[in-house]
Amino acid sequence: MSKSIATKVVHGSQKVDPYTGAVSFPIYQSATFKHLDTTDQRRGYDYSREQNPTRQEVEESLAILEAGTAAFAYSSGMAAITDLFKLFSPGEQIVVADDLYGGTYRLFEEIYAGYGLEFTYVDTSEIENVLAAVQENTKAIFLETPSNPTMKVTDIAAVAEIAQNNDLLTIVDNTFLTPYYQQPLQLGADIVVHSGTKFLGGHNDTLAGFTVVKDEELADSLSLIQKSVGAVLSPFDSWLMLRGIKTLGVRMDKQQSNALQIAEFLQEHQQVEEVFYVGLSEHEGYDISCKQASGFGAMISFTVKEPKLVEQLLESLEVITFAESLGGVESLITHPVSQTHQDIPESILSRLGITESLLRLSVGIEAAEDLVEDLERGLKN
Ligand SMILES: *Cc1c(COP(=O)(O)O)cnc(C)c1O
Repeated sequence: MSKSIATKVVHGSQKVDPYTGAVSFPIYQSATFKHLDTTDQRRGYDYSREQNPTRQEVEESLAILEAGTAAFAYSSGMAAITDLFKLFSPGEQIVVADDLYGGTYRLFEEIYAGYGLEFTYVDTSEIENVLAAVQENTKAIFLETPSNPTMKVTDIAAVAEIAQNNDLLTIVDNTFLTPYYQQPLQLGADIVVHSGTKFLGGHNDTLAGFTVVKDEELADSLSLIQKSVGAVLSPFDSWLMLRGIKTLGVRMDKQQSNALQIAEFLQEHQQVEEVFYVGLSEHEGYDISCKQASGFGAMISFTVKEPKLVEQLLESLEVITFAESLGGVESLITHPVSQTHQDIPESILSRLGITESLLRLSVGIEAAEDLVEDLERGLKN
């Protein structure tokens, strides 16, 4: 029987440790493993860069949650994306969503462009832009949906169809919604990537990254890259991820319910210019979102009417913390222009609407009324 995602997140892959029955999967803190004998007979573990039981449990759990065949765990989301792009060779082009995580943009432009990969940035929420950007040397389409920080929604199935017709890979960064709300592989994508640091881990205490695939050949390639490069998730951090994922469902539901209340409050507020939250029915991506995801998540961006309100708000907060990152139980607020997106050129930022007045809120699990009160005080005239 196929279980609900709410059950799958709690049980992971093996539910309990097969060797001891431990309900909390053990941390196998060992770099190396004794060979059974001099023949080629194996237990499945030789050396922890290649595989470790705790990492394997979190990888197999992610594969189940994303409906893939294999998953790989890395020491950060950026390590995951770095490994993933070793699938490509100099002279190959990748079409990329123009509104994306600043660190991913920096990796592409400052590192991978130097190795001869070409990146073409387009607004993938307008599907015709994707097709128009495909050239003879195009190999993949990389996108985030909802996007960061302007919350644009891209139709994953429509992009995957273009990709299939042109023999390209569709890669989706699913950090914002997680498999609890959105499963890109089910919609035709080939590869899902995650910053596990965010909602999956959920406690602002661990860096982690994942890739998930369904194709066996892709899995073999990523496995080879993972063990050769060595940016793997440690046993302890794998355990923190397993522990975090158990509560993914209850956290996402609470964070989303808080987010909707905050988005509605901000929408009514006189000092707020515009609210970007996918769960508001007037949001441009609302319909596609309802079609491809079972939730809207807990990320809100908004612009204030006067830039000076940014400083006023950030300095008066008592409940929400002014800090980078997102997805954890603590509500965090960031100022993308000066933090997460500072490496993106000014011309691109202004075209995307990432201005001095834009703030991004990651809504946590605190009481919604305390969060609203915090914002209300900060936005007072
Ligand atoms: C944070 C983030 C990343 C990078 O992940 P790290 O764990 O910080 O390395 C990539 N994509 C998105 C959407 C993110 O939010």
